[in-house]
Amino acid sequence: LCQIFVEARGDCTGASAGIGEATALEFAKYNSKLILLARRAERLQKLKSQILEKYPNTQIHTCEVDVRNKQAIDDVIANLPQELKDIDVLVNNAGIAIGFETLENQTQEEIQATLETNVNGLIYVTQAVLPRMKERNSGDIIIMGSISGQQSHGFGNSIYSASKFEIWKSSHISSLRKELVKTKVRVLLIRPGSVDTEFTLNRSRGNPEFSKIYYSGYEPLDAKDIAECVVFGANRPTNVVISELNVLSNAQA
Ligand code: NDP
Repeated sequence: LCQIFVEARGDCTGASAGIGEATALEFAKYNSKLILLARRAERLQKLKSQILEKYPNTQIHTCEVDVRNKQAIDDVIANLPQELKDIDVLVNNAGIAIGFETLENQTQEEIQATLETNVNGLIYVTQAVLPRMKERNSGDIIIMGSISGQQSHGFGNSIYSASKFEIWKSSHISSLRKELVKTKVRVLLIRPGSVDTEFTLNRSRGNPEFSKIYYSGYEPLDAKDIAECVVFGANRPTNVVISELNVLSNAQA
């Protein structure tokens, strides 16, 4: 394990909370150099301190940035410190689902924010990182999809499902993997089921009762369960490609 990650440089979007935060902690175990992106600088600083307390030699670069802003993303990637420019693993994790509403009740603002973050944001970050990966003929692009992009979970999911379906389509069926077929750049799509993070609270517009209803009948996964799969996927020998992983709790499977 260590062999691959001793020199790895990882870039994780949405690293200030939940699955991204757990992923950063998981990579830190393997001496990875970390580039952590999110909008909330104070949360990134808190995570940085937490990692440094446990693994004092970790090199960590934090960037306060909104993935919906293409120019800002291009600038962040172009201005990385020299020793972090060659990104080995990109974890496209930033994502939201706001509103738990019937389609006709979702506001235009919610629809736009969801699609722009989950679809456009992912494309912008990938566009910024990919050229150097192709040049080096090496790298992992890990995409945080959702099981909701593959199967309907009923009420209140249409916009979020649409955004995650788009991710699935563009990472798998269509071009990206085909564009990369002659390179050693791999694409892994992970589709988590329900994971216990702030995501659910945000989605419920801050109503804590929501998660009780949402999770009734099963235990959601822990963010660490997904983080371990990210590291596992990135850590396969270079001739092995895991293209998709569905990661669900027992009751959801
Ligand atoms: P959280 O809400 O806990 O974390 C989301 C992260 O994304 C935060 O770090 C947030 O940081 C970041 N983020 C959101 N919008 C932006 C933006 N515009 N620019 C930069 N960063 C942004 O959610 P999870 O950890 O649960 O979710 C992570 C991913 O996993 C998402 O893509 C989600 O769709 C997916 N997923 C989650 C499931 C779940 O049940 N939790 C199930 C299936 C998939 P900040 O606010 O500081 O910008």
